[in-house]
Amino acid sequence: MTDCIFCKIASGEIPAYKVYEDEKYLAFLDINPLNPGHCLVIPKTHYRWTYDVPDFGEYWEVAKKIALSQVNNLGCQFVSFITVGKQVPHAHIHVLPRYENDPHNEGLNTSNKLNLTPDELKTISEKIKI
Ligand SMILES: [Zn+2]
Repeated sequence: MTDCIFCKIASGEIPAYKVYEDEKYLAFLDINPLNPGHCLVIPKTHYRWTYDVPDFGEYWEVAKKIALSQVNNLGCQFVSFITVGKQVPHAHIHVLPRYENDPHNEGLNTSNKLNLTPDELKTISEKIKI
């Protein structure tokens, strides 16, 4: 889709802090993260919802790879996966590292958007990068 921000990230038209890429999928940092290391995993082809992605299991395996890298490289306690799908109309899985004493409790506080500098985002993306 020509006016889709995630299609533009997938094509390289808009830059992103990429942490993983293969033929079909791309993972990059959310630039308004709910916690340090918050990533999005998208199919490179435009699909509206995660369940529209043809190889659903394969897609989620990529999310798992990102989660394991977050656990191994960021010192997070565990990882939450979120798929709401309302913000951008292109399938995306939020892979959110959770830290002890982070501001999210049992659920998620979506108003807790961090304002990280480009340098901070770059450093975090390099730690997670697969
Ligand atoms: Zn798209």
